[in-house]
Order: sequence, then structure tokens, then C-alpha cells
Amino acid sequence: MRTIIEPFRIKMTEPIKVTTRQHRERALTAAHYNVFLLDAEDCCIDLLTDSGTGAMSNNQWAALMLGDESYAGSQSWKKFESTVKNITGMRHVLPTHQGRAAEGILAQVLVKKGHVIPNNSHFDTTRANMEFAGALAVDLLCKEGMEPARMAPFKGNMDTDRLKECIRQYGAENIPFCMITVTNNTGGGQPVSVANIREVKTILTAHNIPLVIDACRFAENAYFIRARENGYAETSLLDIAAEIFSYADAATMSCKKDGLANIGGFLVCNDDRWAEQFKNMLILREGFPTYGGLAGRDLEVIAVGLMEALDYDYQVYRHATVQYLRKKMEPLGIPMVRPVGGHAVFLDARAFLPHVPPLQYPGIGLVNAIYLEGGIRCVELGSVMFGKFDEQGNEVAAPLELVRLAFPRRVYTQSHFDYLAEVIEHVWHHRDAINGYRLTYQPNFLRHFTGHFQPVD
Ligand SMILES: *Cc1c(COP(=O)(O)O)cnc(C)c1O
Repeated sequence: MRTIIEPFRIKMTEPIKVTTRQHRERALTAAHYNVFLLDAEDCCIDLLTDSGTGAMSNNQWAALMLGDESYAGSQSWKKFESTVKNITGMRHVLPTHQGRAAEGILAQVLVKKGHVIPNNSHFDTTRANMEFAGALAVDLLCKEGMEPARMAPFKGNMDTDRLKECIRQYGAENIPFCMITVTNNTGGGQPVSVANIREVKTILTAHNIPLVIDACRFAENAYFIRARENGYAETSLLDIAAEIFSYADAATMSCKKDGLANIGGFLVCNDDRWAEQFKNMLILREGFPTYGGLAGRDLEVIAVGLMEALDYDYQVYRHATVQYLRKKMEPLGIPMVRPVGGHAVFLDARAFLPHVPPLQYPGIGLVNAIYLEGGIRCVELGSVMFGKFDEQGNEVAAPLELVRLAFPRRVYTQSHFDYLAEVIEHVWHHRDAINGYRLTYQPNFLRHFTGHFQPVD
């Protein structure tokens, strides 16, 4: 097979700073060894997140200029609404400034203290919104999804036996809705099959529980279904997406992912009474229902971006970039989560640095080594981000120490990935020299964002 090319060419460039090792050492020390505290300009390849970091197309930039900034009933709103309805088939569309605002509205209207919300895996803002409303957020990921090295096509699936057990245990009356996240971000962008969504829906229908889809990467998930699930090899991504949404009663979306936009989100639903309540909350928190949390130009950009994300050639290229990095690292024996997901490659820092104990944060050691070696910024998902303290106040390590290399959409070219692979290879060959870290300052919440570190000798 021939090389899969980027299905676009470059009309405008954005310079990136090529730095020296000495410069990076100074920058990282000044940032207290926490890459979240670095200046972005000191990161030559920034793989911190795929959220809101994508490049817009010429059609999106052109659409931006058509932004109709009327307060009510703008033309831009009509384009946004009809595109979202076309994809989701839902009757009511509410534009929000980000995905978490959609989650917040959903939770404030439907979730009460003592409720239980099942999900394959709650994304962190989703969990926070459900818990803030007083609910217990439970993750019911299938067994394959919990084994990093196990090859399986749909590791984002929900465990339907555990869903039935959850409904028995807590009672359907305490479950205002069940969520399913496509693709499963927390599990590394692993997809969910149509068969699984259908089975979840059947179980829920028997108990009168609505289904809400967390749709942030619905187009990447649709591509996985076409590539891996029986019967979909010829189906358009739009039709697959429409089928996914057809099983749902509502959906939340961050357009910073598969909206190919730098900001935006929405909440959709079918139920008229839900829509009425959501709308009231939208007006209170975000804005008038025909712009929500967004400018008219954002609505334009998202309407174009959502359809571009469903373009088959774009998704072929997108998935090829993730596979390209995997293929470069696999022969070297670099430990990573398999199969790779839709938007990121996860390195297994515990296996990469077996000499660093979990409470000396091997993920931070690896993230910092990759930065120092090549100016590449990635993120720890391990004992710093997910660590806890037991009742005696002792720190408890997270089950996995991962490092995420998230892929911004349409931003980096093949030579950037070649460089990235070379840097990681160098770090791999010199891994014995990598130190652990200790925290010298940590805030009470979300310590990974603002904590300070020092290398352990
Ligand atoms: C990013 C994300 C969210 C939250 O969206 P924001 O736009 O960042 O508020 C919710 N769920 C999943 C699965 C996500 O990836």
C-alpha cells in the first residue's frame, strides 16, 4: 500500500521555536519541573491535548467571515442547528461554550442527590459535574478495556452484565440516565461498537432509563466501527454516526474535538420537557438559545468542522498518523497501551522506567525526559493526576502510570512524527539515567496542573 498522505496542503504557516537543550533545562527548572507551567512557545511539538488545538480548514476560515452576530435567530445559528440535527437526528439543539457546560446543564436539570450515573468511563469533567450535583458516578468499562496490553477491537465498550447489576443494586428509579462515551477518552480513545450501544439501549429501555451519549469523538468512533465492526465496511461515517445517535435520548459534545474547532460544544435531546428545562438553564448560564455560549462565527466554524470530521479520507489520514507513531516505536519494544486509540498514543511509564517507584512518579520522569530531549510536551496520567490519600493520609499510587501523547488534528506533518519517534527512541535507550520526582508543593485539588516538583537523586 502507498503512503497515506495528509489530505490537505498548507496555505499558512505558524513558526515553532527550535530550542537548545540548555534553554529547555532552564525553562523546565523555572516551571518547577511541571510541563503545565511551561510557556507554550518553549514547546516545539505540543502534544499536551487534542482539545481545541486543531487547525481549521480554508472552508472554516471562510465561514468565520460569514459569522452573523445577531443576538437572536442568526443565520449562523440556523446553519449550526441544521448540521447538528442532520448528524444527530435530535429535535432540540442547545449551543454551549464547551462540552463541560453541556454536562453542567444536563446534571443541574436531571441529577439529584443520591442518584447514580453509569458510564463506560466518565471523563473527568463529566464525573465532576455529576458528583457536584450529588450523584455517584460509576464506571462500567468492559474487562478488555482495563488490560493495557490486551488486543481487542472495542475496548471502550460498556460491560453490560455490570450495567444490569448496577441497575439491580441501585434501582432504576435512582438512575436518571446512563451515559456512554465515544470514543472512551479516559481509556485512551478506545472505540465503542454499535452492537454494544444497541445492547446497552435494550437493557436501559426495559427499565425506562434514558441514554445520553458523550459524543466528543463520535467521528473517530464512527471510523473505527467502519474499519472493525461487521456490516459497516461500506457505510458512510455520517450514516454510522446517525445510527449511534439514534439509540440516544440526548448527547453532550465538545466541539474542540470532532467539531474541528478551537472552542464550542452542544447539548441535544429529543424530549420536549427536558429541552424546556435545559433551555432555561442555558439562558441562565450560557446565553440566548440561538447562540448559547458562542459567537456567530464560532457557530459557522463548527457547522463546517463537524462535517469535515465525518470525511472518510480525513479519518483515514487521522488514524494513519497514530498508527505511524506506533509502527515506529513497536519494533523497539517501547511499552505502550495496545491497540492505540483514536487520538493518542499512551506510553506505559511503569514498564518504561521500572527502576522508578510509583510514588516517585515515573510518568513525570518520562514526560520531563521527553521534553528535555526534544522540546516535546506530553502529559502524565498516573499517580500525580489520579493518586489518592488513604484514611491515614498516606499517598496511594494509581493503578497505571501512563504518559499520553495526544494528537492535535491536522497540525503536525510526517516529519514532526519522525522527529518525535527519534526523540522517544533516544529517551528509551537512555532510560536507566531517568530520575523520579517528588512534590515540593501541591494544592488541594488538581495538583497535576499547578504542583511543583524536584528530581530525586
Ligand atoms: C473534552 C471532553 C469533555 C469536556 O469537554 P470540554 O470542551 O473540554 O469542556 C467531556 N467528555 C469527553 C470524553 C471529553 O474528551
